[in-house]
Amino acid sequence: MSDERPQRPSGPRKKRPFQRRKVCRFCADKQVTIDYKDPRTLRYFITERGKIIPRRISGNCSHHQREITEAIKRARNIALLPVAGTHAMP
Ligand SMILES: [Zn+2]
Repeated sequence: MSDERPQRPSGPRKKRPFQRRKVCRFCADKQVTIDYKDPRTLRYFITERGKIIPRRISGNCSHHQREITEAIKRARNIALLPVAGTHAMP
């Protein structure tokens, strides 16, 4: 066994302004629940215009992204969240 780590190739590789999360926040923190009655949590996953943020940006796993999507849709139905594209922005 050896402790050697492969050396990184030199050169700047940071290009992403968005920090990527390794695990989805719901897997990491079991106390955070996905609830359509809780728009504060859901708002993390929608844009200002009310669009759902895709998984590769939010960092969610597919399981939780699905739950988020469902919750957002439900929240829209009861008008807790805006529906994207319905009102025209100035
Ligand atoms: Zn997850």
